[in-house]
Amino acid sequence: MSSLRFKAMELVQSRKPVEILELNRRSELFGKNVFNEIAMRQYLTKEAFEGVMSAIELGKKIDRKIANQVSSSMKEWALAKGVTHYTHWFQPLTGATAEKHDAFFETIGSSMAIEKFEGSQLVQQEPDASSFPNGGIRNTFEARGYTAWDPTSPAFIYGTTLCIPTIFVSYTGEALDYKTPLLRALHAVDAAATDVCKYFDKNVKKVTSSLGWEQEYFLIDKALAASRPDINLTGRTLLGHSSAKGQQLDDHYFGSIPTRALNFMRDLETECMLVGIPVKTRHNEVAPNQFELAPIYEEANLAVDHNSLLMDMMGRVASRHDFKVLFHEKPFEGVNGSGKHNNWSLSTDTGVNLLSPGKTPMSNLQFLTFFINTIQAVYKYEDLLRASIASASNDHRLGANEAPPAIISVFIGEQLTNVLEELEGVTKGKLSPEEKTDLKLNVVGKIPDVLRDNTDRNRTSSFAFTGNKFEFRAVGSTANCASPMTVLNTIVAKQLKDFKSEVDKLIDEKGLKKDEAVFNTLREYIKSSRNILFEGNGYSEAWEKEAKKRGLSNNKTTPEALKARVTKKAIDLFEEMNVMSKIETEARYEIEIEEYTLRIQIESRVLGDIAGNHIVPTAVRYQNMLIENVRGLKEIFNNDFEIHAKEQIKLIKGISEHIEAIHLKIDEMINARKKANNLKDVVKKAEMYCFEVKPFFEEIRYHCDKLELMVDDEIWPLTKYRELLFTR
Ligand code: ADP
Ligand code: MG
Repeated sequence: MSSLRFKAMELVQSRKPVEILELNRRSELFGKNVFNEIAMRQYLTKEAFEGVMSAIELGKKIDRKIANQVSSSMKEWALAKGVTHYTHWFQPLTGATAEKHDAFFETIGSSMAIEKFEGSQLVQQEPDASSFPNGGIRNTFEARGYTAWDPTSPAFIYGTTLCIPTIFVSYTGEALDYKTPLLRALHAVDAAATDVCKYFDKNVKKVTSSLGWEQEYFLIDKALAASRPDINLTGRTLLGHSSAKGQQLDDHYFGSIPTRALNFMRDLETECMLVGIPVKTRHNEVAPNQFELAPIYEEANLAVDHNSLLMDMMGRVASRHDFKVLFHEKPFEGVNGSGKHNNWSLSTDTGVNLLSPGKTPMSNLQFLTFFINTIQAVYKYEDLLRASIASASNDHRLGANEAPPAIISVFIGEQLTNVLEELEGVTKGKLSPEEKTDLKLNVVGKIPDVLRDNTDRNRTSSFAFTGNKFEFRAVGSTANCASPMTVLNTIVAKQLKDFKSEVDKLIDEKGLKKDEAVFNTLREYIKSSRNILFEGNGYSEAWEKEAKKRGLSNNKTTPEALKARVTKKAIDLFEEMNVMSKIETEARYEIEIEEYTLRIQIESRVLGDIAGNHIVPTAVRYQNMLIENVRGLKEIFNNDFEIHAKEQIKLIKGISEHIEAIHLKIDEMINARKKANNLKDVVKKAEMYCFEVKPFFEEIRYHCDKLELMVDDEIWPLTKYRELLFTR
């Protein structure tokens, strides 16, 4: 008997929910293990505190003396909480977080020991960069890499380790991680947006980008997950016939959360509280065993760190509850996959959300400025935004009628569409006093208060305005949010910079008043970016056709989408905004394209193995049982046996056909793989994996899934969809 599958099922049935005690209020736990402002005020000297705060707020450098004070205080704080080790915590381009723990413990001579943590150890470390993806930067330069303290994201304690968020760069300073370009993009958008804000309010000194992510995931029993080699090695099922019951009854979405899952969530949320992740929302998602978790939004860099930390913590906490978390965008065919909406906005140090309509005409003009510039930025760089969320796993989801299509478009709702139409009608050049009054009172002055509650929730749009923020909905659930956030903030920064110089030019050269210059420039943007606005059904075929006419890109696969990363336009953009050098941009492209190849290669091997070594032998075994049965029937019924053995014989033949097809397709797939592997060019190789290896997956799966329906359930080796999705 196929023991693993049935043992796993038995195990699941005997599981008891892990007891969770919540003794404290969440607010009391919040940030307890974070070296945050309260801890700093308590542990740092005034001088050190001010040094760190000015590094956080103004980007000032921290000198050696201050660093020594901070490290020593950080150590005292951590030791008081039972911490033994410290680590530089960073986000290399593997997609996972990285850490290397060192003990505070040091010996003096042969008989003495102390706990030590120097400023230099806080500020910088030198992990070997050669074992992390570097896209050729290592070959060009040196294997050594540096991690450097990012004081804008506070240190935290996880387990018994003090974790210090850091950037990760090569010996020559090229970014090897997600955080470095993100920080540069945030700096760029701060500078550009602050400049633009000064048209409206001279007191604005800083603009912060905010991110509120929503993380979707599946929760599967650990034993069931372990019984499937495909889930184990690729994070998704490569085959499996769909369950008779899936999500068609809509009975899971927002349903009552199963106790075991709920206890996992409570446990996780406590951990989140301790490290300062402000989790707020939890609920069942559409598919069975699918859930969502969302925090209150935060400054973008911190939010990105918190999402990466959360994904890591989820895996560990899940294990305590005998679960495995699946972050894959499409773990199961036939039911919804998972995404990670990125809610994004900009706000000033004077407390204004720049994407929230205000109460006065002036604040509304500011809102419209940022609103329209964002639309224009997305329009100009839609292909780059698409590229920022490209991955082998997200390809399954985009355009599959459960998530936005691979086309990027902006949804703004009816009311704002009307406002833009009115603005578009504004006279070119100088405005008459009557026109100005009319504009202020009737157009800008009338952006309705009700907007926030009223914005339509068009779920099919990839980039939607939702009242006081934009929501980028095409981000995949496995993604590091830094990638889309780096691109979004960079393109908005570039757009705002261009806007500023256009407006200034109209003021200086054409003698327009500030408001007139702003109106004039916005009007031109509304005209030029009209093609990116779409209010209809993004899932429809009609939209695909329409988008093509409008010249919008529709890159359905990662190799196609990623090309936008290395166009001259993209390279120039990142250079101009000081976000990435040409070398960094090209290295990143190479890393992403290679990662794509590797993922498909692994899936192809795993599928070949399961189909050839698990499915086919099982089918043969069952076929032998049938043959034995037919032989017996022949013995009893002699020449009449065919009447009685009709169905068995049909099955025997059918099984042979599927086995033959599987073998044939596996051979062809292996040949395609060999051809691809011989290619030197990484881009061509990825394309070959995409267009010539991957198509075999569906074909092989088709025959395996047919066999699943034919073969005796008792001997089927793989845990079935109904068991994966419904066993609790
Ligand atoms: P849903 O998309 O599920 O309908 P909501 O529209 O209620 O959810 O909001 C989703 C997320 O938007 C929340 O996680 C919230 O933190 C985030 N959010 C709210 N305001 C902002 C903002 N100014 N900047 C970034 N994110 C925000
Ligand atoms: Mg959402």
